[in-house]
Amino acid sequence: MGGTPSHLMSNLTINMSISSQESNTFNQENKRCIGKVYLVGAGPGDPGLLTLKGKGLLECADVVVYDALVSPQILMMINPQAEKIDAGKRMGRHSLFQEETTKLLIELAQTQAIVVRLKGGDPFVFGRGGEEMEDLVRAGVPVEVVPGVTSGIAAPAYAGIPLTHRSYSSSVTFVTGHESAGKYRPAVNWSAIAHGSETIVVYMGIHNLSYITTELESAGLSPQTPIALVRWGTRPEQEELIGTLQTIVEQVEESGFTAPAIAVIGNVVNLHSILSRNYQ
Ligand code: SAH
Repeated sequence: MGGTPSHLMSNLTINMSISSQESNTFNQENKRCIGKVYLVGAGPGDPGLLTLKGKGLLECADVVVYDALVSPQILMMINPQAEKIDAGKRMGRHSLFQEETTKLLIELAQTQAIVVRLKGGDPFVFGRGGEEMEDLVRAGVPVEVVPGVTSGIAAPAYAGIPLTHRSYSSSVTFVTGHESAGKYRPAVNWSAIAHGSETIVVYMGIHNLSYITTELESAGLSPQTPIALVRWGTRPEQEELIGTLQTIVEQVEESGFTAPAIAVIGNVVNLHSILSRNYQ
């Protein structure tokens, strides 16, 4: 725990002593767990947005299993002695890969004290953290979640878009644009979303943007409703594309704008022209 800041020591000591108490229990496969898995949110990219608790765990981890969207500067904070495992998920083989990742975490907890599962943004916001934690709990592995700053809040903020504002929006919805419809749950009800809140934040929405904008317009939103796309939010390469429900698909095609990006829909997007760093 050499590099751990002193103000974090007590917290980590508590966590570690809990894990050694828990190590007296056996998991379902009747193997002794010596370690604990921490599901840590890495935030959206800017290393300054990683929590102190998350940083402390990276500095004293024995092994870190990380996802594709974790930024290189955050990977550089990992204890140099720790094993680093890239678990970047791949489109099309989500289910199998998820099982493999969970199996790996269960195995690592048999031999390593501090196992960090590092995920982009917040582990419990469209990050499968809930599923992983459920599997670990079922397997009898001690596990704790460390929340992170989610990209759906941070990317708009860095683009000068507050999600609520007393004059423009008193409600916000976070929704996935990449549906596993029918597999895990019913399809997203875009009509209900359109009427349910004044700001809509879409994760993983770029590939389905044409479908999403059409659904929202069919539900009654004006074609002039402002929309912002924020790509690689909070990183040096952050890019923004501002338009309306009517224009954005063509703008994406013309500019070659690609994922990963957050889409923000609603009148708060108009504040971008006043609050964006580009206009300072
Ligand atoms: N758990 C993550 C979300 C994972 S889903 C979180 O809380 O942020 C992956 C999607 O998140 C991407 O397709 C994209 O829509 C969004 N995303 C993640 N990092 C981003 C970033 N730095 N800028 C913009 N969007 C991002």
